[in-house]
Amino acid sequence: MDTASAPAVDTFRPQLLDRRVRLLAASDAVPAAYFNDLIAEIDAALGRIDNGSYGLCETCHDPIEAERLAQNPLVRFCLDHLSQAELEAHQQDLDLATQIQSRLLPPRDIALESWDTQYRYQPVGAVGGDYCDLIVLGNGKSLFFAVGDVAGKGVAASLLMTHLSAILRSLLSLDLSLTDVISRANRLFCESTAPAHYATLVCGRATASGVEICNAGHCMPLLLKQDVTQRLDSTGLPLGLFSSSQYPVQHVSLDPGDSLVLYTDGITESQDPEGNQYEEDRLIRSLSDHRDQTAEAMADGLLRDVALYRKSHPASDDMTLLILRRPMNMT
Ligand SMILES: [Zn+2]
Repeated sequence: MDTASAPAVDTFRPQLLDRRVRLLAASDAVPAAYFNDLIAEIDAALGRIDNGSYGLCETCHDPIEAERLAQNPLVRFCLDHLSQAELEAHQQDLDLATQIQSRLLPPRDIALESWDTQYRYQPVGAVGGDYCDLIVLGNGKSLFFAVGDVAGKGVAASLLMTHLSAILRSLLSLDLSLTDVISRANRLFCESTAPAHYATLVCGRATASGVEICNAGHCMPLLLKQDVTQRLDSTGLPLGLFSSSQYPVQHVSLDPGDSLVLYTDGITESQDPEGNQYEEDRLIRSLSDHRDQTAEAMADGLLRDVALYRKSHPASDDMTLLILRRPMNMT
């Protein structure tokens, strides 16, 4: 976790002075008591910068979470030492964020004639930085699918994930080729986010004749065929790094009984109590054990195996899994 180091503290002084000027300018429009309280709070914060205690929790004297300080330079307590009222307000914000995020997830029961789909989305906290989407396009003629992972964790990552979701949904409504969708999403993401913000993404379009897929720096998707598992290893750079990035599209054909599996590294990096990671090999083995079953049985089987592997070790990253399967009884 970032702490408020000395140079970072310096950046708060001009911010606080700027707020003070704006507050003074608006003094007539603000009730006097509220105005006086705010001025006192700003002056106290400036005083803390002068005496070197700025950015430290007033209860435990540990650094306050940098992310919270950046959002509100007047905070005086770390998350562990909020007052009851602040704690309740914080919990309400988190609950609201959870609700907003859960509404962005695709419906559970998307069924297309030629595809059996399942996804699992398990954020480690109230909200996650993983992205998962399934969108039926062209009156059911094709299915857009995507799994991504946004840099960072918690509320900040979930906001970026929401941003990515909005960009992709807008682009999909324009009826572009897949390579155009992802190249434009990359440019928009580059232009509208801070340089340290990026996202890995694997997405594609499934139709009755097969799948086209594009990977922007994400874990390799797996293609489970009857007797072999292939890793689709063609990949471009993560979204949001370079606006000129190119994203090649790969065409994949699936026979009845074949499955395409997309996931985030929260699964392969799950740890057992000794700190060993689940890894891709075990992921492939576990999926292969269920390759003759439905996408639902495959998803449940995999998550059971991950839980078995972790034992009591808590999850430390969001986990997302998306399976597209060609049903056996398809003609
Ligand atoms: Zn504290």
